[in-house]
Amino acid sequence: MKQVAIVGGGVSGLSAAYYLGRKGVASKLFEKRSRLGGTILTERLDGCLLEAGADSWLAEKTWMLDLARDLGIGSQVIGSNDSRRRTFVVRGGRLVPLPESMRLLAPSKPWQIATTPLLGLPAKMRFAVEWFRRPAEHGDRSVADFVRDHFGDEAVEYIAQPMLAGVYGSPPERLSANQVIPRFVDYERTHGSILRGVFANRQRNPPNPLFLTLRDGMGSLVAALEHTVSGTCEIVHDEVMRLERSVNGWHLHCAERSAVADTVVLATPAHEAGRLLETTDEDLARALNTIDYTSSVVAGLVYPASGFGHPLDGFGLLVPRKEESCLAACTWVNTKFADRVPVDKVLLRAFLTGNAADRFLQASQDSIVAKADSELRNWMGFHPAPAAGGAFRWERSMPQYSVGHSARSSELEDRALHLPGLHLAGNGYSGLGIPDCVQRSQRIAAAIAAT
Ligand SMILES: Cc1cc2nc3c(=O)[nH]c(=O)nc-3n(C[C@H](O)[C@H](O)[C@H](O)COP(=O)(O)OP(=O)(O)OC[C@H]3O[C@@H](n4cnc5c(N)ncnc54)[C@H](O)[C@@H]3O)c2cc1C
Repeated sequence: MKQVAIVGGGVSGLSAAYYLGRKGVASKLFEKRSRLGGTILTERLDGCLLEAGADSWLAEKTWMLDLARDLGIGSQVIGSNDSRRRTFVVRGGRLVPLPESMRLLAPSKPWQIATTPLLGLPAKMRFAVEWFRRPAEHGDRSVADFVRDHFGDEAVEYIAQPMLAGVYGSPPERLSANQVIPRFVDYERTHGSILRGVFANRQRNPPNPLFLTLRDGMGSLVAALEHTVSGTCEIVHDEVMRLERSVNGWHLHCAERSAVADTVVLATPAHEAGRLLETTDEDLARALNTIDYTSSVVAGLVYPASGFGHPLDGFGLLVPRKEESCLAACTWVNTKFADRVPVDKVLLRAFLTGNAADRFLQASQDSIVAKADSELRNWMGFHPAPAAGGAFRWERSMPQYSVGHSARSSELEDRALHLPGLHLAGNGYSGLGIPDCVQRSQRIAAAIAAT
Protein backbone atom coordinates (compact mmCIF):
# COMPACT_ATOMS: atom_id res chain seq x y z
CA MET A 1 0.00 0.00 0.00
CA LYS A 2 1.25 3.50 -0.85
CA GLN A 3 2.40 5.69 2.00
CA VAL A 4 1.68 9.28 1.08
CA ALA A 5 2.78 12.17 3.28
CA ILE A 6 1.47 15.68 2.68
CA VAL A 7 3.32 18.63 4.20
CA GLY A 8 1.09 21.68 4.74
CA GLY A 9 -2.55 21.89 5.72
CA GLY A 10 -3.62 24.88 3.63
CA VAL A 11 -6.13 24.48 0.83
CA SER A 12 -3.46 22.83 -1.37
CA GLY A 13 -2.58 20.13 1.15
CA LEU A 14 -6.18 19.51 2.16
CA SER A 15 -7.43 19.25 -1.39
CA ALA A 16 -4.57 16.87 -2.25
CA ALA A 17 -5.72 14.68 0.67
CA TYR A 18 -9.32 14.96 -0.51
CA TYR A 19 -8.67 13.97 -4.13
CA LEU A 20 -6.34 11.16 -3.02
CA GLY A 21 -9.06 9.87 -0.70
CA ARG A 22 -11.56 9.87 -3.54
CA LYS A 23 -9.21 7.60 -5.45
CA GLY A 24 -8.87 5.28 -2.49
CA VAL A 25 -5.38 6.46 -1.50
CA ALA A 26 -4.79 7.07 2.20
CA SER A 27 -2.45 9.83 3.37
CA LYS A 28 -0.93 11.49 6.40
CA LEU A 29 -0.92 15.30 6.50
CA PHE A 30 1.54 17.32 8.60
CA GLU A 31 0.58 20.86 9.58
CA LYS A 32 2.81 22.95 11.82
CA ARG A 33 0.09 25.24 13.11
CA SER A 34 -2.60 24.19 15.55
CA ARG A 35 -5.23 25.03 12.91
CA LEU A 36 -5.73 24.06 9.26
CA GLY A 37 -6.40 26.41 6.36
CA GLY A 38 -3.13 28.31 5.90
CA THR A 39 -3.99 31.71 4.47
CA ILE A 40 -7.71 30.95 4.68
CA LEU A 41 -9.03 32.13 8.03
CA THR A 42 -12.53 33.33 8.89
CA GLU A 43 -12.88 35.40 12.06
CA ARG A 44 -15.67 37.17 13.95
CA LEU A 45 -15.15 40.82 14.76
CA ASP A 46 -17.76 42.74 16.73
CA GLY A 47 -20.62 40.70 15.23
CA CYS A 48 -19.24 40.86 11.67
CA LEU A 49 -17.81 38.03 9.60
CA LEU A 50 -14.27 39.03 8.69
CA GLU A 51 -12.12 37.15 6.23
CA ALA A 52 -8.62 37.55 7.62
CA GLY A 53 -7.16 36.02 4.44
CA ALA A 54 -8.85 35.03 1.17
CA ASP A 55 -12.47 36.16 0.91
CA SER A 56 -13.78 34.53 -2.30
CA TRP A 57 -12.89 32.85 -5.59
CA LEU A 58 -13.44 33.74 -9.21
CA ALA A 59 -16.73 32.19 -10.40
CA GLU A 60 -15.29 31.50 -13.86
CA LYS A 61 -13.07 28.83 -12.27
CA THR A 62 -16.01 26.47 -12.17
CA TRP A 63 -14.26 23.47 -10.59
CA MET A 64 -14.36 25.27 -7.24
CA LEU A 65 -18.13 25.16 -7.28
CA ASP A 66 -17.91 21.47 -8.20
CA LEU A 67 -15.63 20.93 -5.21
CA ALA A 68 -18.05 22.74 -2.88
CA ARG A 69 -20.91 20.57 -4.19
CA ASP A 70 -18.88 17.38 -3.85
CA LEU A 71 -18.12 18.35 -0.25
CA GLY A 72 -21.85 18.82 0.43
CA ILE A 73 -21.62 22.59 0.95
CA GLY A 74 -22.94 23.65 -2.47
CA SER A 75 -26.04 25.17 -0.87
CA GLN A 76 -23.80 27.50 1.18
CA VAL A 77 -22.22 29.09 -1.89
CA ILE A 78 -23.19 32.72 -2.32
CA GLY A 79 -22.22 35.34 -4.89
CA SER A 80 -20.89 38.87 -4.61
CA ASN A 81 -23.51 41.60 -4.80
CA ASP A 82 -22.73 42.47 -8.41
CA SER A 83 -25.60 44.90 -8.96
CA ARG A 84 -23.45 47.25 -6.84
CA ARG A 85 -20.06 46.24 -8.19
CA ARG A 86 -17.87 49.29 -8.73
CA THR A 87 -14.23 49.84 -7.94
CA PHE A 88 -12.72 53.20 -7.12
CA VAL A 89 -9.11 54.27 -7.61
CA VAL A 90 -7.54 56.99 -5.50
CA ARG A 91 -6.20 59.77 -7.69
CA GLY A 92 -4.93 63.04 -6.21
CA GLY A 93 -6.55 62.10 -2.89
CA ARG A 94 -10.03 61.61 -4.44
CA LEU A 95 -11.97 58.46 -5.30
CA VAL A 96 -12.44 57.99 -9.05
CA PRO A 97 -14.54 55.05 -10.37
CA LEU A 98 -12.92 52.65 -12.80
CA PRO A 99 -14.86 52.37 -16.08
CA GLU A 100 -17.68 49.94 -15.35
CA SER A 101 -16.69 47.53 -18.15
CA MET A 102 -13.00 47.37 -17.13
CA ARG A 103 -11.53 43.86 -17.62
CA LEU A 104 -8.33 44.20 -15.60
CA LEU A 105 -6.35 46.30 -18.12
CA ALA A 106 -8.88 47.49 -20.68
CA PRO A 107 -12.66 48.06 -20.86
CA SER A 108 -14.90 45.82 -22.95
CA LYS A 109 -16.77 49.01 -23.91
CA PRO A 110 -13.77 50.98 -25.24
CA TRP A 111 -15.70 54.27 -25.45
CA GLN A 112 -15.81 54.36 -21.64
CA ILE A 113 -12.13 55.36 -21.69
CA ALA A 114 -13.07 58.65 -23.39
CA THR A 115 -15.09 59.85 -20.43
CA THR A 116 -13.19 58.47 -17.43
CA PRO A 117 -11.66 61.11 -15.15
CA LEU A 118 -9.08 58.49 -14.13
CA LEU A 119 -6.84 59.20 -17.14
CA GLY A 120 -5.65 62.42 -18.76
CA LEU A 121 -5.96 63.28 -22.45
CA PRO A 122 -2.56 61.89 -23.55
CA ALA A 123 -3.38 58.50 -21.98
CA LYS A 124 -6.81 58.50 -23.65
CA MET A 125 -5.11 59.19 -26.99
CA ARG A 126 -2.83 56.20 -26.37
CA PHE A 127 -5.87 53.96 -25.90
CA ALA A 128 -7.41 55.28 -29.15
CA VAL A 129 -4.24 54.61 -31.14
CA GLU A 130 -3.79 51.19 -29.53
CA TRP A 131 -6.91 49.93 -31.31
CA PHE A 132 -4.93 49.89 -34.58
CA ARG A 133 -1.96 47.79 -33.47
CA ARG A 134 -0.96 44.78 -35.50
CA PRO A 135 -0.35 41.30 -34.04
CA ALA A 136 3.08 40.90 -32.47
CA GLU A 137 4.96 38.32 -30.45
CA HIS A 138 7.48 39.10 -27.71
CA GLY A 139 9.36 37.01 -25.20
CA ASP A 140 8.24 37.27 -21.61
CA ARG A 141 8.45 40.85 -20.32
CA SER A 142 7.26 42.67 -17.26
CA VAL A 143 3.64 43.71 -16.88
CA ALA A 144 4.85 47.32 -16.67
CA ASP A 145 6.70 47.05 -20.01
CA PHE A 146 3.72 45.33 -21.60
CA VAL A 147 1.18 47.93 -20.44
CA ARG A 148 3.48 50.88 -21.13
CA ASP A 149 4.05 49.61 -24.67
CA HIS A 150 0.29 49.44 -25.31
CA PHE A 151 -1.18 52.28 -23.29
CA GLY A 152 1.63 54.39 -21.81
CA ASP A 153 2.87 55.27 -18.31
CA GLU A 154 -0.35 56.62 -16.88
CA ALA A 155 -2.10 53.29 -17.50
CA VAL A 156 0.73 51.54 -15.67
CA GLU A 157 0.40 53.84 -12.65
CA TYR A 158 -3.39 54.17 -12.39
CA ILE A 159 -4.64 50.84 -13.79
CA ALA A 160 -2.09 47.99 -13.88
CA GLN A 161 -0.15 48.77 -10.72
CA PRO A 162 -3.11 49.24 -8.35
CA MET A 163 -5.09 46.36 -9.93
CA LEU A 164 -2.27 43.88 -9.38
CA ALA A 165 -0.73 45.16 -6.13
CA GLY A 166 -3.57 43.78 -4.02
CA VAL A 167 -3.28 40.32 -5.60
CA TYR A 168 0.48 39.88 -6.01
CA GLY A 169 1.91 42.49 -3.64
CA SER A 170 4.67 43.32 -6.06
CA PRO A 171 5.33 46.11 -8.55
CA PRO A 172 4.37 45.59 -12.22
CA GLU A 173 8.05 46.06 -13.13
CA ARG A 174 8.74 42.66 -11.52
CA LEU A 175 5.68 40.68 -12.56
CA SER A 176 5.81 38.39 -15.58
CA ALA A 177 3.26 39.30 -18.28
CA ASN A 178 3.15 35.70 -19.52
CA GLN A 179 2.26 34.38 -16.08
CA VAL A 180 0.08 37.14 -14.65
CA ILE A 181 -1.85 38.43 -17.68
CA PRO A 182 -1.68 35.51 -20.18
CA ARG A 183 -5.02 36.40 -21.74
CA PHE A 184 -3.73 39.85 -22.73
CA VAL A 185 -0.46 38.44 -24.06
CA ASP A 186 -2.59 36.17 -26.22
CA TYR A 187 -4.63 39.15 -27.49
CA GLU A 188 -1.37 40.88 -28.40
CA ARG A 189 -0.37 37.85 -30.43
CA THR A 190 -3.73 37.27 -32.11
CA HIS A 191 -5.29 40.74 -32.39
CA GLY A 192 -2.36 43.09 -31.86
CA SER A 193 -4.56 45.43 -29.86
CA ILE A 194 -5.56 44.60 -26.30
CA LEU A 195 -8.60 46.81 -26.64
CA ARG A 196 -9.75 44.94 -29.73
CA GLY A 197 -8.99 41.60 -28.03
CA VAL A 198 -11.11 42.49 -25.01
CA PHE A 199 -13.87 43.85 -27.24
CA ALA A 200 -13.91 40.78 -29.50
CA ASN A 201 -13.99 38.42 -26.53
CA ARG A 202 -16.53 40.36 -24.47
CA GLN A 203 -19.09 37.98 -23.11
CA ARG A 204 -22.71 38.68 -23.87
CA ASN A 205 -23.50 37.09 -20.55
CA PRO A 206 -20.47 37.53 -18.31
CA PRO A 207 -20.39 35.33 -15.19
CA ASN A 208 -22.74 36.85 -12.72
CA PRO A 209 -21.72 37.08 -9.96
CA LEU A 210 -18.01 37.54 -10.55
CA PHE A 211 -16.95 36.21 -7.14
CA LEU A 212 -18.25 33.26 -5.15
CA THR A 213 -17.77 32.50 -1.50
CA LEU A 214 -19.44 30.58 1.33
CA ARG A 215 -22.20 31.99 3.50
CA ASP A 216 -20.29 31.42 6.73
CA GLY A 217 -16.93 32.32 5.24
CA MET A 218 -14.11 30.54 3.46
CA GLY A 219 -13.34 28.79 6.75
CA SER A 220 -16.30 26.51 5.90
CA LEU A 221 -14.34 25.16 2.96
CA VAL A 222 -11.49 24.23 5.29
CA ALA A 223 -13.91 22.67 7.79
CA ALA A 224 -15.67 20.66 5.07
CA LEU A 225 -12.37 19.42 3.64
CA GLU A 226 -11.13 18.47 7.11
CA HIS A 227 -14.35 16.61 7.87
CA THR A 228 -14.44 14.80 4.53
CA VAL A 229 -10.79 13.67 4.55
CA SER A 230 -10.98 12.34 8.10
CA GLY A 231 -11.74 8.80 6.85
CA THR A 232 -8.67 8.57 4.61
CA CYS A 233 -6.19 11.08 5.95
CA GLU A 234 -4.53 11.23 9.34
CA ILE A 235 -3.87 14.84 10.32
CA VAL A 236 -0.80 15.43 12.46
CA HIS A 237 -0.10 18.85 13.95
CA ASP A 238 3.68 18.87 13.86
CA GLU A 239 6.29 20.83 11.92
CA VAL A 240 8.35 18.97 9.34
CA MET A 241 11.90 20.23 9.88
CA ARG A 242 13.81 18.30 7.22
CA LEU A 243 13.32 15.73 4.46
CA GLU A 244 15.75 13.02 3.52
CA ARG A 245 15.70 10.35 0.84
CA SER A 246 17.05 6.82 1.23
CA VAL A 247 16.42 3.46 -0.40
CA ASN A 248 13.43 3.08 1.95
CA GLY A 249 11.78 6.25 0.65
CA TRP A 250 11.31 9.68 2.19
CA HIS A 251 12.12 10.35 5.83
CA LEU A 252 10.24 13.21 7.42
CA HIS A 253 11.99 14.62 10.45
CA CYS A 254 9.43 16.53 12.45
CA ALA A 255 9.70 18.59 15.60
CA GLU A 256 8.15 15.80 17.69
CA ARG A 257 8.39 12.61 15.62
CA SER A 258 9.66 11.15 12.39
CA ALA A 259 7.86 9.29 9.63
CA VAL A 260 8.60 7.42 6.41
CA ALA A 261 6.67 7.65 3.15
CA ASP A 262 7.20 6.58 -0.43
CA THR A 263 5.45 9.68 -1.79
CA VAL A 264 5.64 13.25 -0.46
CA VAL A 265 3.45 16.17 -1.51
CA LEU A 266 5.04 19.46 -0.46
CA ALA A 267 2.05 21.79 -0.13
CA THR A 268 3.92 24.69 1.42
CA PRO A 269 5.19 27.98 0.01
CA ALA A 270 8.10 27.31 -2.40
CA HIS A 271 10.70 28.80 -0.03
CA GLU A 272 9.65 26.35 2.68
CA ALA A 273 9.83 23.44 0.19
CA GLY A 274 13.34 24.69 -0.63
CA ARG A 275 14.34 24.72 3.04
CA LEU A 276 13.04 21.17 3.55
CA LEU A 277 14.94 19.86 0.53
CA GLU A 278 18.26 21.57 1.30
CA THR A 279 20.06 18.39 2.31
CA THR A 280 18.43 16.20 -0.36
CA ASP A 281 18.95 18.28 -3.49
CA GLU A 282 20.82 21.55 -3.10
CA ASP A 283 20.15 22.69 -6.67
CA LEU A 284 16.44 22.10 -6.42
CA ALA A 285 16.38 23.85 -3.05
CA ARG A 286 18.18 26.85 -4.54
CA ALA A 287 15.78 26.95 -7.51
CA LEU A 288 12.78 26.86 -5.14
CA ASN A 289 14.27 29.74 -3.20
CA THR A 290 14.41 31.91 -6.31
CA ILE A 291 10.62 32.20 -6.18
CA ASP A 292 10.27 35.33 -4.06
CA TYR A 293 7.35 35.74 -1.72
CA THR A 294 5.99 39.01 -0.37
CA SER A 295 4.06 39.57 2.82
CA SER A 296 0.67 41.13 3.35
CA VAL A 297 -1.28 42.46 6.28
CA VAL A 298 -5.08 42.55 6.47
CA ALA A 299 -6.71 45.04 8.82
CA GLY A 300 -10.42 44.68 9.69
CA LEU A 301 -12.15 47.84 10.94
CA VAL A 302 -15.70 47.94 12.29
CA TYR A 303 -17.54 51.28 12.61
CA PRO A 304 -21.03 52.25 13.76
CA ALA A 305 -23.14 52.81 10.63
CA SER A 306 -24.77 55.86 12.11
CA GLY A 307 -22.75 58.94 11.20
CA PHE A 308 -20.58 57.02 8.72
CA GLY A 309 -19.78 59.62 6.10
CA HIS A 310 -19.46 57.52 2.95
CA PRO A 311 -22.19 55.78 0.86
CA LEU A 312 -20.05 52.63 0.24
CA ASP A 313 -21.36 52.63 -3.32
CA GLY A 314 -19.03 49.93 -4.64
CA PHE A 315 -16.87 46.97 -3.66
CA GLY A 316 -14.00 49.14 -2.51
CA LEU A 317 -10.97 51.15 -3.49
CA LEU A 318 -7.47 50.65 -4.90
CA VAL A 319 -4.56 52.88 -3.98
CA PRO A 320 -1.89 53.49 -6.65
CA ARG A 321 1.67 53.71 -5.28
CA LYS A 322 1.85 57.28 -6.63
CA GLU A 323 -0.53 58.24 -3.84
CA GLU A 324 2.16 57.26 -1.32
CA SER A 325 -0.07 55.46 1.15
CA CYS A 326 0.77 52.31 3.11
CA LEU A 327 -2.55 50.83 1.92
CA ALA A 328 -2.89 49.01 -1.39
CA ALA A 329 -6.65 48.40 -1.30
CA CYS A 330 -9.76 48.31 0.85
CA THR A 331 -12.88 46.17 0.50
CA TRP A 332 -16.25 47.62 1.56
CA VAL A 333 -17.69 44.40 2.92
CA ASN A 334 -21.22 45.82 3.49
CA THR A 335 -21.57 46.15 -0.29
CA LYS A 336 -19.60 43.16 -1.58
CA PHE A 337 -21.14 40.59 0.79
CA ALA A 338 -23.98 42.36 2.60
CA ASP A 339 -24.98 39.49 4.91
CA ARG A 340 -21.62 39.55 6.68
CA VAL A 341 -22.26 42.81 8.50
CA PRO A 342 -25.18 43.77 10.80
CA VAL A 343 -27.18 46.73 9.46
CA ASP A 344 -25.96 49.07 12.17
CA LYS A 345 -22.28 48.48 11.37
CA VAL A 346 -19.74 49.11 8.66
CA LEU A 347 -16.89 46.67 8.01
CA LEU A 348 -13.83 47.73 6.02
CA ARG A 349 -11.03 45.32 5.09
CA ALA A 350 -7.80 47.15 4.35
CA PHE A 351 -4.71 45.58 2.73
CA LEU A 352 -1.08 46.42 3.14
CA THR A 353 1.21 44.70 0.68
CA GLY A 354 4.84 44.78 -0.44
CA ASN A 355 7.19 47.14 1.45
CA ALA A 356 4.35 48.63 3.49
CA ALA A 357 3.42 45.17 4.78
CA ASP A 358 7.06 44.48 5.68
CA ARG A 359 7.16 47.71 7.70
CA PHE A 360 4.03 46.78 9.63
CA LEU A 361 4.68 43.04 10.18
CA GLN A 362 6.11 43.70 13.64
CA ALA A 363 3.76 46.58 14.51
CA SER A 364 1.07 46.15 17.13
CA GLN A 365 -2.50 45.41 16.11
CA ASP A 366 -3.64 48.78 17.47
CA SER A 367 -1.12 50.75 15.46
CA ILE A 368 -1.99 48.89 12.23
CA VAL A 369 -5.69 49.56 12.75
CA ALA A 370 -5.05 53.23 13.64
CA LYS A 371 -2.87 53.73 10.56
CA ALA A 372 -5.40 52.09 8.22
CA ASP A 373 -8.18 54.17 9.75
CA SER A 374 -6.32 57.45 9.34
CA GLU A 375 -5.45 56.68 5.68
CA LEU A 376 -9.05 55.72 4.84
CA ARG A 377 -10.30 58.99 6.33
CA ASN A 378 -8.31 60.89 3.68
CA TRP A 379 -10.45 59.44 0.91
CA MET A 380 -13.72 58.35 2.50
CA GLY A 381 -14.43 61.46 4.53
CA PHE A 382 -15.30 61.78 8.15
CA HIS A 383 -16.49 58.76 10.05
CA PRO A 384 -16.72 57.81 13.70
CA ALA A 385 -13.77 56.08 15.37
CA PRO A 386 -13.61 52.30 14.83
CA ALA A 387 -15.58 50.33 17.40
CA ALA A 388 -13.34 47.29 16.87
CA GLY A 389 -10.32 46.33 14.82
CA GLY A 390 -8.12 43.37 14.06
CA ALA A 391 -4.89 42.84 12.13
CA PHE A 392 -3.66 39.64 10.49
CA ARG A 393 -0.11 39.24 9.24
CA TRP A 394 0.70 36.89 6.36
CA GLU A 395 4.44 36.74 6.18
CA ARG A 396 6.02 35.66 2.87
CA SER A 397 2.68 34.28 1.73
CA MET A 398 2.24 35.70 -1.79
CA PRO A 399 4.50 34.41 -4.59
CA GLN A 400 5.92 36.97 -6.97
CA TYR A 401 5.64 35.59 -10.46
CA SER A 402 8.58 37.57 -11.80
CA VAL A 403 9.65 37.80 -15.44
CA GLY A 404 10.70 34.35 -16.70
CA HIS A 405 8.63 32.56 -14.03
CA SER A 406 6.98 29.99 -16.35
CA ALA A 407 10.35 28.85 -17.73
CA ARG A 408 11.91 28.71 -14.24
CA SER A 409 8.91 26.84 -12.90
CA SER A 410 8.97 24.16 -15.57
CA GLU A 411 12.74 23.76 -15.18
CA LEU A 412 12.21 23.30 -11.47
CA GLU A 413 9.46 20.74 -12.00
CA ASP A 414 11.71 18.80 -14.38
CA ARG A 415 14.39 18.75 -11.69
CA ALA A 416 11.87 17.52 -9.12
CA LEU A 417 11.04 14.58 -11.42
CA HIS A 418 14.50 13.21 -10.67
CA LEU A 419 13.44 12.69 -7.07
CA PRO A 420 10.97 9.77 -7.24
CA GLY A 421 7.81 10.27 -5.24
CA LEU A 422 8.21 14.05 -4.79
CA HIS A 423 5.36 16.39 -5.78
CA LEU A 424 5.29 20.18 -5.52
CA ALA A 425 1.84 21.58 -4.72
CA GLY A 426 0.95 25.08 -3.50
CA ASN A 427 0.73 28.57 -4.91
CA GLY A 428 4.34 29.06 -5.97
CA TYR A 429 4.23 27.53 -9.43
CA SER A 430 1.17 27.73 -11.66
CA GLY A 431 -1.36 30.08 -10.04
CA LEU A 432 -1.96 31.65 -6.66
CA GLY A 433 -5.76 31.79 -6.49
CA ILE A 434 -7.53 29.16 -4.39
CA PRO A 435 -9.00 27.46 -7.50
CA ASP A 436 -5.51 27.24 -9.06
CA CYS A 437 -4.13 25.62 -5.91
CA VAL A 438 -7.04 23.14 -5.83
CA GLN A 439 -6.64 22.26 -9.49
CA ARG A 440 -2.90 21.66 -9.10
CA SER A 441 -3.50 19.37 -6.12
CA GLN A 442 -6.19 17.49 -8.03
CA ARG A 443 -3.70 16.78 -10.84
CA ILE A 444 -1.05 15.69 -8.36
CA ALA A 445 -3.50 13.32 -6.65
CA ALA A 446 -4.45 11.82 -10.02
CA ALA A 447 -0.76 11.31 -10.88
CA ILE A 448 -0.07 9.63 -7.51
CA ALA A 449 -3.09 7.37 -7.78
CA ALA A 450 -2.05 6.35 -11.30
CA THR A 451 1.42 5.10 -10.23
C1 LIG B 1 -4.33 38.19 2.48
C2 LIG B 1 -4.60 37.24 1.35
C3 LIG B 1 -5.78 37.32 0.63
C4 LIG B 1 -6.04 36.43 -0.41
N1 LIG B 1 -7.22 36.52 -1.08
C5 LIG B 1 -7.54 35.59 -2.00
C6 LIG B 1 -8.84 35.55 -2.56
O1 LIG B 1 -9.73 36.33 -2.20
N2 LIG B 1 -9.12 34.58 -3.50
C7 LIG B 1 -8.17 33.66 -3.88
O2 LIG B 1 -8.48 32.82 -4.75
N3 LIG B 1 -6.93 33.66 -3.35
C8 LIG B 1 -6.61 34.58 -2.40
N4 LIG B 1 -5.36 34.57 -1.81
C9 LIG B 1 -4.40 33.53 -2.22
C10 LIG B 1 -4.74 32.18 -1.63
O3 LIG B 1 -5.38 32.33 -0.39
C11 LIG B 1 -3.48 31.34 -1.41
O4 LIG B 1 -2.66 31.33 -2.56
C12 LIG B 1 -3.83 29.89 -1.08
O5 LIG B 1 -4.77 29.83 -0.02
C13 LIG B 1 -2.55 29.14 -0.73
O6 LIG B 1 -2.87 27.88 -0.20
P1 LIG B 1 -1.72 26.81 0.08
O7 LIG B 1 -2.34 25.69 0.77
O8 LIG B 1 -0.96 26.55 -1.18
O9 LIG B 1 -0.67 27.58 1.03
P2 LIG B 1 -0.87 28.13 2.49
O10 LIG B 1 -2.24 28.65 2.68
O11 LIG B 1 0.29 29.06 2.70
O12 LIG B 1 -0.70 26.85 3.41
C14 LIG B 1 0.55 26.25 3.64
C15 LIG B 1 0.47 25.51 4.96
O13 LIG B 1 1.68 24.81 5.17
C16 LIG B 1 2.00 24.88 6.56
N5 LIG B 1 3.45 24.62 6.65
C17 LIG B 1 4.45 25.37 6.14
N6 LIG B 1 5.64 24.80 6.44
C18 LIG B 1 5.38 23.65 7.11
C19 LIG B 1 6.20 22.63 7.67
N7 LIG B 1 7.53 22.68 7.58
N8 LIG B 1 5.60 21.59 8.32
C20 LIG B 1 4.25 21.55 8.42
N9 LIG B 1 3.43 22.50 7.92
C21 LIG B 1 3.98 23.53 7.26
C22 LIG B 1 1.61 26.30 6.91
O14 LIG B 1 1.44 26.43 8.31
C23 LIG B 1 0.30 26.44 6.16
O15 LIG B 1 -0.81 26.05 6.91
C24 LIG B 1 -5.08 35.44 -0.75
C25 LIG B 1 -3.87 35.35 -0.04
C26 LIG B 1 -3.64 36.23 1.02
C27 LIG B 1 -2.36 36.10 1.82
